Amino acid sequence: MPSPYDVLVVGSGPAGGTAARYAARRGLRVLLVDKRKEIGVPVQCGEYVAHNDEVRAIFPTVDGLDDLMEIPYRVREVDTPVIRVWSPRGRRYDVPFRGFTVRRDRMDQGIAAQATKSRLTEGPSVPRSSSDRTGRDRPSRSPSGSNGPCPLPR
Ligand SMILES: Cc1cc2nc3c(=O)[nH]c(=O)nc-3n(C[C@H](O)[C@H](O)[C@H](O)COP(=O)(O)OP(=O)(O)OC[C@H]3O[C@@H](n4cnc5c(N)ncnc54)[C@H](O)[C@@H]3O)c2cc1C
Repeated sequence: MPSPYDVLVVGSGPAGGTAARYAARRGLRVLLVDKRKEIGVPVQCGEYVAHNDEVRAIFPTVDGLDDLMEIPYRVREVDTPVIRVWSPRGRRYDVPFRGFTVRRDRMDQGIAAQATKSRLTEGPSVPRSSSDRTGRDRPSRSPSGSNGPCPLPR
């Protein structure tokens, strides 16, 4: 029996969610699955993310980076204009480099939501997590997780 999908992505972390997003917007039928009940939960770390302009500067010849970091902009917390390095003798070095911290669970969920957009046919509602107190950017539907698949129809 032929598969209804062109691509199966296992794991909806930043890598899997982004891979699904790029594959889906090229017209491929993608199935994104994750073993977690809720994407990004439990939170792995307090996340630092580079600004998209810095990513483009680092990889000037790579196509398709224009909106690579679009999702984190909606979940950003603190802008960081420099990377600060402390030497063992206590000397401080500030390296100009734009970035920001994000809410990691929201970032992973946002990337997966970007992959599915409104084409998700059905999904379980997202239970509130302990890091969900403000209610900002909370999707009404889970793009994946729930120990189940998240189909991305063409
Ligand atoms: C303490 C700590 C701090 C960090 N700080 C930063 C930072 O500040 N900035 C930064 O850029 N990076 C940071 N990182 C690294 C960053 O978290 C990883 O590079 C990133 O999470 C890798 O993304 P990924 O999508 O490859 O994997 P993951 O984020 O690990 O996602 C993998 C996904 O696959 C799912 N999965 C695994 N196995 C299966 C299976 N068998 N079936 C279905 N689903 C499965 C998991 O549930 C998970 O959702 C940090 C990491 C740690 C541990």
